[in-house]
Amino acid sequence: METQKTNVVVIGAGTVGSMALWQLSKRDGLDVVGIEQYGRVHSHGSYAGESRVFRTAVHEGGTYVRMIQRSRELWRELEAESGRSIYAEVGCLSIAPEGFPDLETALGTVRDFDLPHRVLSTEELRAEFPQHRVHDGDVGLLDAHGGGLRPEVAVMSALDLAEANGAKLLFNTPVIDVEERPDGVVVRTTQGAWIADTVILASGSWSSRLSPELNELLRLQVLGLTWFMPKQPELFAPERFPAFLRDAGSVHFFGAPSFDGYAFKACTNPEWPVYRDVSEVPTTHTREELIRIGQRAAELFEGVNPEPVRQSVHHCAYTPDRLPVVDRSASGRLVTIAGLSGHGFKFSPQLGEWAAQLAMDEESTVDPRFALPAHLSRLAETGPYTGGGH
Ligand SMILES: Cc1cc2nc3c(=O)[nH]c(=O)nc-3n(C[C@H](O)[C@H](O)[C@H](O)COP(=O)(O)OP(=O)(O)OC[C@H]3O[C@@H](n4cnc5c(N)ncnc54)[C@H](O)[C@@H]3O)c2cc1C
Repeated sequence: METQKTNVVVIGAGTVGSMALWQLSKRDGLDVVGIEQYGRVHSHGSYAGESRVFRTAVHEGGTYVRMIQRSRELWRELEAESGRSIYAEVGCLSIAPEGFPDLETALGTVRDFDLPHRVLSTEELRAEFPQHRVHDGDVGLLDAHGGGLRPEVAVMSALDLAEANGAKLLFNTPVIDVEERPDGVVVRTTQGAWIADTVILASGSWSSRLSPELNELLRLQVLGLTWFMPKQPELFAPERFPAFLRDAGSVHFFGAPSFDGYAFKACTNPEWPVYRDVSEVPTTHTREELIRIGQRAAELFEGVNPEPVRQSVHHCAYTPDRLPVVDRSASGRLVTIAGLSGHGFKFSPQLGEWAAQLAMDEESTVDPRFALPAHLSRLAETGPYTGGGH
């Protein structure tokens, strides 16, 4: 089969791939091809599951704040260009015992970056957010710019815009291998080959299959989603119930308001081991897991039926320190964005913008710690991610 020529190939039309395609498609005269192993917006990617928490007051400290602020602008642009509702800015409420380390770091972040927020006492939490069963000594941090993102709508919107701007999108076309050559990068698929000036690898949990270095660096964490029916669903509507993070003892819950009118999303820490390949990952919760999660949810939320009304199991590729990989190879021809480590949806528009800038050899503000060689030298000291992230 003949090898076709193009300027840029994006491998994977998921979270990062769709954002990179949208950004690249805005550049005049550039020939761009996106290649996706499944159909347009599917249920296998790390973006599946109705909502993703967006917050600016991150408990990881300042590393992500600028990326998130830029992404917030780009989420709004994506909404304006597509005419679709993607980002519900309903706030993000963190509740934890006073002095809890993650909450203290988030408080430091809001102060350092002057982010709009409110600190709530136990009594204020109980009065304003009766949906939460607040424990004595719990305090709250309401991140005013936080909220819920709608991931499937976001990916669909970015792909539709990219296509309308002239990008060529190929679906149900798995990429088999990628070969960097002096005259370009060859991308072989099940349905023919492409040679591109530059390739962006944005293949999420499957990245290890296409890159031996990523196979060493990345591990797959399984993450489950659960939705519960409250007795009073109106209390959990987006106008009244912000996205949330809750820490109680060793239990961490996160979730989003009810977007379907009858159930809200409340999910807890993964207890699965890590895996190397998607083919090994479990595809559903066990009955015991669902009973345990339901009991915890009923303890933390008011009037909640402990049986999850919906549940699904997903996976995401993690680096040991949960920093993403944002890399341009020595030749400049291969750009890699990977290892979004369970928290990267919120800043994926920034990653897509960086991917396009790196592919075009333009200036960008990428943190040097995200480069692949920097990751690999830290990996030699720490070893791979071993699990327990949320
Ligand atoms: C359950 C869960 C909850 C999460 N919650 C949050 C949250 O609340 N907030 C937050 O910010 N982040 C959250 N995250 C993290 C975030 O959703 C992921 O980090 C992000 O979606 C990963 O994006 P990606 O582009 O790397 O992968 P994906 O979105 O999975 O995209 C990869 C794409 O590449 C395609 N592909 C792979 N291999 C090939 C190939 N060989 N050929 C062609 N196509 C290929 C795949 O089919 C897929 O479409 C969560 C993740 C999970 C799983």
